[in-house]
Amino acid sequence: MTTTRAPVREPLETDVSVEERLQRLRLALEKQAPKMLIDGEWRAALSGATFEVVDPATGAPIATMAAGEGDDVALAVDAARRAFRDGPWPRLPASKRMMLLLALADGLEEQASDLALLESLDAGHTLGSIVRGDLPLGLRSLRDNAGWATKIAGEAPMQAADQNGFNYYLREPIGVVGIITPWNAPFLMVVQKLSAALAAGCTVVIKPSELAPLSALRIGEACSRAGIPPGVVNIVTGAGAAAGQALADHPDVNMISFTGSTAVGKAIMAAAARGNLKRLVLELGGKSPVMVFADADLDKATSAIVSEITFKSGQYCAAGSRVFVQASIHDALVTRMRSAMDRLRIGPGYIDGVDMGPMISTGQRRRAADIISHSVQAGAQPLRGGQARPGAGYFFEPTLLTQATADMQVAKEEIFGPALVVTPFSDAASLGEVAALANDSIYGLSAKIWARDVGLVHELIGRLEAGQVIVNGGGGEAVLPFGGVKQSGFGRENGLVGVLAYTEIKAVRLGI
Ligand code: NDP
Repeated sequence: MTTTRAPVREPLETDVSVEERLQRLRLALEKQAPKMLIDGEWRAALSGATFEVVDPATGAPIATMAAGEGDDVALAVDAARRAFRDGPWPRLPASKRMMLLLALADGLEEQASDLALLESLDAGHTLGSIVRGDLPLGLRSLRDNAGWATKIAGEAPMQAADQNGFNYYLREPIGVVGIITPWNAPFLMVVQKLSAALAAGCTVVIKPSELAPLSALRIGEACSRAGIPPGVVNIVTGAGAAAGQALADHPDVNMISFTGSTAVGKAIMAAAARGNLKRLVLELGGKSPVMVFADADLDKATSAIVSEITFKSGQYCAAGSRVFVQASIHDALVTRMRSAMDRLRIGPGYIDGVDMGPMISTGQRRRAADIISHSVQAGAQPLRGGQARPGAGYFFEPTLLTQATADMQVAKEEIFGPALVVTPFSDAASLGEVAALANDSIYGLSAKIWARDVGLVHELIGRLEAGQVIVNGGGGEAVLPFGGVKQSGFGRENGLVGVLAYTEIKAVRLGI
C-alpha cells in the first residue's frame, strides 16, 4: 500500500524565517488556553489550577498548562475504560486501525517543521537533532507499529490430549494503558508508546512531563483529526507527583508504560505491587560504557562520542558517558575529544548552526554541577568544563574528565548532562577485564564498541550486560527493540515485541 507523505522539511528551508515562525509560535502559545484532552474534549483541570512551561534557553515562560490531578486522571481513565469496553477501537478490523495510525503519521508529518520548532522551544534541543533524529525516528516507529497491528497473532500450538478438542491461544489488547513520558525526547517517547498501544487495540491516558508537555498536546490534536475515536487517547498534563502518581495508583489502569528515572520507575513498580498488579514496561536510566580499541577509526569515534553526549546536552538515556580506551591511544583520543568539545557552538537550539542547546531546568543543571564538583574534590581531573555557563538559560559547559575512579559519583551516577569520563585500560587487558569495567554499573541500557577486529567485537558483545550494543557508531533504529537490563528497566519498545507488550494471552480449550 502506498501513502502520500509530505517530506520532513528542515525548518530552515521554509520560506518564512525561523525567527518569524518562532515569534508566531510564541504568540500562539501565549494565547493557548490551558487544556487537556479527555473523552474527545479539551478541558481545563477540574481545580482550575495551572502551571507554566519555560523556554530553557532563556528561562522565560512560554505557555500556561492545565495542572491535572487525581480527579482529572480519574475522568480520563473512565473515558479510556468506556472507549475500551464499549467503543469501537479494540473491535475495529486491524487493517482499519492500521489505516488510522498511518493517517496520524501523515498528519504529524505535514506539520513536522512546526513540531520541530515547538519541541526545540519546549525541550531545548537543537532543530537539527529533532529534524534528523526524534521526528523521523518517531514517525518510522509510528508507521512500523501501524503495520504490526495486522500481524498480531495467537497460535494453535498443541494437539489436545484426548483428540476430541482443539487448543489455541489469542492475543488480546491489555486494556487501559497509562503512558508516562520524560522531557528529554517528548515527541518520540509519546509517539512510540502511543502507536504500539493503539496498534494492539488498547486505549490510553498519557501523562507527559510537566517540563516539556507541548508536543503531546499536538499529538492529541492530530489523533482527533486522523479520526481516532474520542476517549481512545486522553492526555492529562500536570506534575509527576500528582497526575503521574494518580495514574500509577489507579485501580482501573491495566498497564503503565513508563520512561524516566530509575527512582520513579521503582515507585511505579511499588504502586503496581500495592495495587492491581499492573503490567509494566519500564525504560529507565543508563550510564552507558564506550570501549575504544587501538585499531578503531579515532576521528569517527571522537565525533560520534562527543556528538552523542552533547546533542541533547547529555540528556539522552543511552548516551555513552563512561569511555574506556586502550592505553596506547588514550592521549590521542582525549586530545581529539577536547578540541571537538571546544569547537561546539552552544546556544538556543532553535538558532541556526547551534550544536548544543541548554539543559532542561536549573535543577537538572545544578545536579550535574554537584556530581562533577563532588568527584573533582575526590581527585577527578576536569580537562574542560564542569560548570554552568553564566547568563540566561540553563546552559552547561561540555565537560571532559579523567582520573576518575569507579567509586566516584561521575563514574557511577547518571549525570544526564554533557559530561564524559575517560579511563584507560592496559593494552594487555583481556576482553574479560574490559567487559568487567563496562559492566561495573547498576545500569545496562546501551554499550558501544569502537574496533575493527570483528572477532574481538563478536566476543565482547557476548560479555556485555546491556539491552543494546552499538558497534562503530549509529544510533536510534525504529525497527530494533530498545530497552535495558539490570536497573535500566525491562520490556522493549519498537518492533513486534514492542507491540506485543500491550497484549495479554488468552488460552482456549475448545471441546468438540
Ligand atoms: P522522571 O523519572 O523524573 O520523570 C519521568 C516522568 O515520570 C515524568 O512525566 C514525570 O512527571 C513522571 N513522574 C515523576 N514522579 C512520578 C511519580 N511519583 N509517579 C508517576 N510519575 C511520576 O525522569 P525525567 O523526566 O527526569 O527523565 C530523565 C530520566 O529518564 C533519566 O534518568 C533518563 O535516563 C530516563 N530516560 C530513559 C530512557 C529509556 O528509554 N531508558 C529514555 C529517556 C529518558 P514530571 O516531569 O511532570 O514530574
